[in-house]
Amino acid sequence: MDRLPVTLCGSLSRYPVGLGAAMHEAGYRALGLGFAYVPFPCEDLAAALSGMRALGIRGLGISMPFKIEILPLLDAVDELAARIGAVNTVVNDSGRLTGYNTDAVGAVLAVEEVIPPRGVQVTVIGAGGAARAVAFGLASAGARVCVVNRTERSAHELARSISAALGADVSAGPLSDLAAFANAQVVVNATSATMADRGALSPVPAVALRRDQVVMDIVYKPIRTTLLAQAADRGARVIHGGRMLLHQACRQFELYTGRPAPRLALDAALSRFIAGDES
Ligand code: NAP
Repeated sequence: MDRLPVTLCGSLSRYPVGLGAAMHEAGYRALGLGFAYVPFPCEDLAAALSGMRALGIRGLGISMPFKIEILPLLDAVDELAARIGAVNTVVNDSGRLTGYNTDAVGAVLAVEEVIPPRGVQVTVIGAGGAARAVAFGLASAGARVCVVNRTERSAHELARSISAALGADVSAGPLSDLAAFANAQVVVNATSATMADRGALSPVPAVALRRDQVVMDIVYKPIRTTLLAQAADRGARVIHGGRMLLHQACRQFELYTGRPAPRLALDAALSRFIAGDES
């Protein structure tokens, strides 16, 4: 036997969560595809990519903290991912590994469910792999983006790189800059600060949030983060991290299978996962 009986996909993360698997598997079932999805815990990224080649794994989602360090380990990086400077998806074509970024489109589609981003003032918190994609995607969609980060220097570097890539005027500042929140119509947390196993603390003081704002937290473990609880208490509209995960997973599904993603099936898996998580 020279082929696996199923086409295997999965994810590489230091903190694996079952939600991606639940969505992809629901999509495979909906289309009757002979695919399976495994979330792999990973410490050694280069070794894991060798395993991907050796075992013929078709596609892998790349999660925290590997999205930037993976770039030099790949055979090719598609143009959007190269411009963003982060990869969250790897496709294996007969041993040739190509990196893609589906986080950017995921973030834009998640925000668009509540407010069209064009012309809107958005403050993105964070300057890591995910924040790069979120800020780039929203600036590409016409939002006026300000990046704030705990390490201020990284926020300025990210703002400069997006401004250069898009010819947009992306600003930057420290996380302590409350004016960045006062001016924002949309606030997006793209840090890991609100993750359950990273302290679950909101990076924003509650007083900085208002009822006329939209607040998105891209963290999805937990789904209801401390930031979203604060924002809801202040009367803001909130978007949880599952919405971005859904939209970026649909794009991954298409890259892995070559078929349009059955979005309703993936969305239903997301709802079931949230209901299970909260019961
Ligand atoms: P990363 O590259 O490790 O970046 C981490 C970022 O969080 C940095 O900006 C870091 O600031 C900041 N940070 C960490 N702890 C903090 C704290 N206590 N207070 C303030 N800032 C803090 O991670 P990543 O790959 O960008 O992922 C970030 C999060 O996004 C993860 O929870 C991941 O699961 C989530 N994510 C969600 C989706 C989705 O589809 N919903 C997609 C991608 C990622 P410094 O620069 O100062 O260290």
